[in-house]
Amino acid sequence: MKRLPFSRQMWLSKHASGHCAVGRMMLMRKKWTHSKCPRCLQDNETNEHVLLCTDVWATEHWEKLTKKLDKDLVSMNTAPELRRMIIRKLYNWRRRRRITAQITNKYGEREASDHQDKIGWTNLMLGRMAPQWAAAQQLYLDWLGRRTTGKQWIIALTVKLLNISWDMWDHRNRILHASTHPWNLLKVQELDLKIEDEYRQGYQNLQRKDYKWLHRTLAATKKLTTEVKQQWLTSIHLSRQTYERNTTAQYQAMRSERSTMIRWLTGVPPRTTENQTEQANGLA
Ligand SMILES: [Zn+2]
Repeated sequence: MKRLPFSRQMWLSKHASGHCAVGRMMLMRKKWTHSKCPRCLQDNETNEHVLLCTDVWATEHWEKLTKKLDKDLVSMNTAPELRRMIIRKLYNWRRRRRITAQITNKYGEREASDHQDKIGWTNLMLGRMAPQWAAAQQLYLDWLGRRTTGKQWIIALTVKLLNISWDMWDHRNRILHASTHPWNLLKVQELDLKIEDEYRQGYQNLQRKDYKWLHRTLAATKKLTTEVKQQWLTSIHLSRQTYERNTTAQYQAMRSERSTMIRWLTGVPPRTTENQTEQANGLA
């Protein structure tokens, strides 16, 4: 973990414990009204789903990452038997297949793989590796006569796998936040309707100093970014609320003047609750 940048360390602890902002958690925290995966739109998106999502873009991205992993394993002097085993097992895990054919056991890779089956391959992607991997690679390095150790190799491999997992999460977020995502298009539509409504209300109940909010044309306001539109709506709402509060306060402040006026005009004290309160207060 120490080999990862701090932000990825934070991400990993959340991701490994299932507390990152996946659909399932967003629904539980009531931030979303659903638990859907932003890529394939399936319900109940979990941290494991981020790695296993079968959406076309997700699959393409995964394949690109594992192709690179395969190359990296070669440059890390990985025993070819171990490299093939890891790549094939990851391939099957993502397709939810259980194929055990063509299993070699030259350096103990079968024991490593069997143990990893028990720990789980999702766990491997989050850095929870069977210890036999390092021992098997050590045997290969000894045979090659290299000075590097199986332990160094497994640390380097763990960092690579964690970065792949992070990359899949990042890919999911890039799709989620793209302006062309159907959810975002829907949000834009909703905001535009609210903006149109504000323009219809016009300067009504708007404080003079806030007329500026309507200086831009409706078309120009609709072209603003989602974030700016939200700020615009909040500002104009606040301005109308303040206007209403001020006029109500002004109305209430003139209460005693109104009572005096009614008494003077009619000769009778007004029979209103207002007057009764004033009498109770000893003002009448
Ligand atoms: Zn998905």
